[in-house]
Order: sequence, then C-alpha cells, then structure tokens
Amino acid sequence: MQIRLAGPPIIDSIVDGPGLRTTVFVQGCWRHCPGCHNPQTWDFDAGYLDDTENIKKIISETKMQDGVTFSGGEPFLQAAALADIGRHVKSLGLSLWSFSGFTLEELQAGTPEQQELLKLLDVLVDGPFVLSQRNLNLRFKGSSNQRTLRLKDGQLIERID
Ligand code: SF4
Repeated sequence: MQIRLAGPPIIDSIVDGPGLRTTVFVQGCWRHCPGCHNPQTWDFDAGYLDDTENIKKIISETKMQDGVTFSGGEPFLQAAALADIGRHVKSLGLSLWSFSGFTLEELQAGTPEQQELLKLLDVLVDGPFVLSQRNLNLRFKGSSNQRTLRLKDGQLIERID
C-alpha cells in the first residue's frame, strides 16, 4: 500500500515516546498550526511515496526498539496505510504510539480507517499544537492542550499526561 512520507523512518528516537523508538513521519497536514515544529511536512505534494511493505521490513529488521511512533504531518489523514504498518508493529509485540492534531473524540467519530488505526494504538497524543499554550516542560508534546492517552481497542483507559 502506498504511503507519502516526509523522510525515511528515524531509528532510536528518544523524543517520540518512551524507550528507543522508530518514528514514521508522514507528509501532509492542512492544520498549519502557528509554531508547528515540522512545517516542512505540511505540503501534501512534498516528501515522497513509499510502500508500506518497505516500512514494515525496516521495522522488522531494526533491533533494540521498544516501539514505533507515527508522527508528521497528520498521521490520521493516511490512516489506512498506517493501520497496515500498525498491524505489523503489534504482531512484533512492540508498542505503538501516534500523534494527531485531531482529538480522540474526533477520531472515534472518524472514518472507518481512522477508527481502525485508533484501535491499534497503545497511546495517542492528541490535539493540535497551540502556540499560546506552549510549555517546554511537557514530555513528548509541545502545548498543554495536548493529552497523552492510553487506549485499548480505541477506547480511553487513562490519561497519562
Ligand atoms: S497538527 Fe501537528 S503537524 Fe499539523 S500543523 Fe499542527 S503541529 Fe504541525
């Protein structure tokens, strides 16, 4: 399945969730939050097309990773492709996190593909970056409106940050 990426997966990331993680940066986000850290990922025609099979192969062959994180760009605008990768991540017993500019409640009422991706996640960091609520002391997120949510089958278990 095709996926538009901002760049190759980042290995050994320590800023996108706990432990050592492989981070997949998708390309494309219409939200254009002032102060966004990744404005180069906004353009839906930039980046490059890859195949999810390639990404799954990289994840399988990369050792010593605690999990995989989807970032961007807006991961939930490519939910079907990321669900394909996410199923593979879970089959390897790795943890799966995703960032999203959408809230959990918006995604729970989203497309079937978005709901499918949501059901695979262990943790969702939700909501857009809001410059007026920027807080440099937050872990794994940039503004205090964003929530770090532990999920099971797409349902909220607990807010962990
Ligand atoms: S939702 Fe995220 S990627 Fe999109 S503009 Fe806002 S901060 Fe940037």
